[in-house]
Amino acid sequence: MDIRRPPSKAMRSGKAGEPFKSYQNYSNNMKQQQQNLKASSDAVLLLRVPLYITNGIFFTLFFSAAYFLLHRWREKIRTSAPLHILSLSDIAAIVSLIASFIYLLGFFGIGFLLSIIPRASHDHEDAWDVHNNDHLIAKEDSRPPGPCAAAIDYSLVPPVLPCTNGSSNAAAPLPLSQDDEEIIKSVVSGSTPSYSLEAKLGDCRRAAAIRREALQRSSGRSLEGLPLEGFDYDSILGQCCEMPVGYVQIPVGVAGPLFLDGKEYTVPMATTEGCLVASTNRGCKAIYASGGATTVLLRDGMTRAPVVRFSSASRAAELKFFLEDPLNFESLSLVFNRSSRFGKLQYIKCAIAGKNLYMRFSCSTGDAMGMNMVSKGVQNVLDFLQDDFPDMDVIGISGNFCSDKKPAAVNWIEGRGKSVVCEAIIKEEVVRKVLKTNVAALVELNMLKNLTGSAVAGVLGGFNAHASNIVSAIYIATGQDPAQNVESSHCITMMEAVNDGKDLHISVTMPSIEVGTVGGGTQLASQSACLNLLDVKGANRDSPGSNSRLLATIVAGSVLAGELSLMSALAAGQLVKSHLKYNRSSKDMSKISP
Ligand code: ADP
Repeated sequence: MDIRRPPSKAMRSGKAGEPFKSYQNYSNNMKQQQQNLKASSDAVLLLRVPLYITNGIFFTLFFSAAYFLLHRWREKIRTSAPLHILSLSDIAAIVSLIASFIYLLGFFGIGFLLSIIPRASHDHEDAWDVHNNDHLIAKEDSRPPGPCAAAIDYSLVPPVLPCTNGSSNAAAPLPLSQDDEEIIKSVVSGSTPSYSLEAKLGDCRRAAAIRREALQRSSGRSLEGLPLEGFDYDSILGQCCEMPVGYVQIPVGVAGPLFLDGKEYTVPMATTEGCLVASTNRGCKAIYASGGATTVLLRDGMTRAPVVRFSSASRAAELKFFLEDPLNFESLSLVFNRSSRFGKLQYIKCAIAGKNLYMRFSCSTGDAMGMNMVSKGVQNVLDFLQDDFPDMDVIGISGNFCSDKKPAAVNWIEGRGKSVVCEAIIKEEVVRKVLKTNVAALVELNMLKNLTGSAVAGVLGGFNAHASNIVSAIYIATGQDPAQNVESSHCITMMEAVNDGKDLHISVTMPSIEVGTVGGGTQLASQSACLNLLDVKGANRDSPGSNSRLLATIVAGSVLAGELSLMSALAAGQLVKSHLKYNRSSKDMSKISP
C-alpha cells in the first residue's frame, strides 16, 4: 500500500551543484524525511487494510476517546470526585487518544513539518511553481507517463551527488597518475598541444581527463558538473567531436504511442524544456484515438551546391546549359555515382549571379543523411568538368545554394533531404475530450497564427506553432545534426473542418527533413539506442534508405502531434477567452459544436 501524499516543497528543492556540505545537510534531511515517510508507510502496511479505512478508524477513535474523557472529567468535577483516580475505561480512553493522536500526526503532520524545514534553494521551487510555457498541458492529460512535475514522485528520486571533479557519484573519475601530472603541466605550459593528446597517448579517455585538468588549471575555472566518466571517447574520435573534456547530459523522454501508417512508435525526445514531451504525448493520444496519422514521402535527396567563377557571364551560362542538358545527365551521373554505391545523382539545378555559377546537385543517399556522400560526388564532377571547362575557377564546394543550416527559400520550395507530408483526421469527440477545445477554434487559430501571423512576420518556412521543438528533441536523441534543425523545421501546418464541419483535418508539410540512421552521431551508444527504440537503427540491408525515410516520417508524425497539442492549449486558453471578451459570441465556445 502506498501513501499518496504529494511531495513537500522541501523534498523537491534538491539542486545538483550545491557545495558538498550543504548536500550532506540536504541528504540527511532527505534521509530523515524518507525514513519518517517509510515509518508511517510501514505502519499502514502492517494493518493491510485500505488507507481510508485506517484513517477513518483512527479519526473515530480520536474523537470518541476525547469525547469520552471530557464527559468523564465533567462528571468527576460535578460529583467532586478526584481527577487523578482513573478507572480501567479512563485508562483505555487515554491510551486510545494518544495512539490515535500519534497516528494522525504521523500521517497528516509530516507534510506540514517538512514544509517548514529550511530549503536548499529557492530557484528550483520557482521553476516548479512557475509553469508559463504556452504548451503547458500536462495536467490535462491524465495518463501516467506524463513527465511533468505532477506525475513524478520526487520522494523516490535520489539527488545527484556533486563530486569534487564534477562527475556524478556513479562515475567518479579515475585518479591522475604521476605521468599524467607531467603531461598536464606540459599542456598548461603550451609545450604539448592539447589537440595532440589522443594521438600521443593512444588513450582517448586519458587524453580527455588530462585536457580537462589542464583546462581547469590554465583557465582557473572549474568544470564541476560536467561529467567525464561514463562516456566512450573512442567512439567520437575523428568523427563527432575534437578535444573533448566531458559530455553534457540531456534527459530523454518518450512520447507515444504514435500511431503512424498503421504502426505504433514510441518517440524518444532529448530536451530540457519542461512539458514538451508531455505535450507531444497528448498529441499522440489524440491521433491514436482518432485512428492514426498517415504520411507520404514526396522526395528524398540531399543537395550540395558549389560555386564556380568564369571570366564572363556568358561562359558561366555555357556551363549551366551543359549541366542542365538531359543528354549530358548520364555521363555526369556516372562520374558522380563513383564515390558511393548509395549516392545516386538525381538532378542538377543551376543559378547564376553575374559570372558566378551555383550548381545545386541533388542525390539519393541511402540511410545516410548524406552530406559527405553528396560532397564526394560533387568533387568528382568538378574534377571531370575541368577538362572541358579549364577556365572554371572553383571558389568553394559549398556556395550556399545548397543550402545547409541556414533558412533558405530554395529548401522551402525545392526541398532538401526528405520532403514529407503527414495528415490525420481528429474526431470531434477527441478534440473535445483529449484536446479540450473545439474544431472551429482550432481552425481559426491556425489561420490567424500559423498562416496570417507568420505572413505578417515574414517567416521563411515557419508556418507552424513549434515544429522546431519536436524536431530538435528527436534530432538530439537520435544523433542527427542539431544545426540542421534550421531547415528541417520548415513546416506549414494546415487545419480544416471536415465531415460537415464536425471533425478536424490537420496536416504538416515538411520539405526539408534531413535525417540519417548511419554515419555522424547516429553510431554513438545513446543515440543508437534511441534509433533502436524506433527500429530504424543503422543501415537497412534489404532496402537501403528505408530506415532514414521511416525516421523522417516519424519526425513529421511527431511534429503533427506537437502542433495539435500546442495549438489546442492555445485555443483553449486564449482564443476562447478572447471570443468571449470581444463578444463575438455570447456562448462559451468550448461548449458548442462547431
Ligand atoms: P553522411 O554522408 O551522412 O555524412 P557518412 O559520410 O558517414 O554519412 O556516410 C555513410 C557511410 O555509411 C558511407 O560510407 C556508406 O558507404 C556507409 N553505408 C553503409 N550502409 C549504408 C546505407 N544503407 N545507406 C547509406 N550509407 C551506408
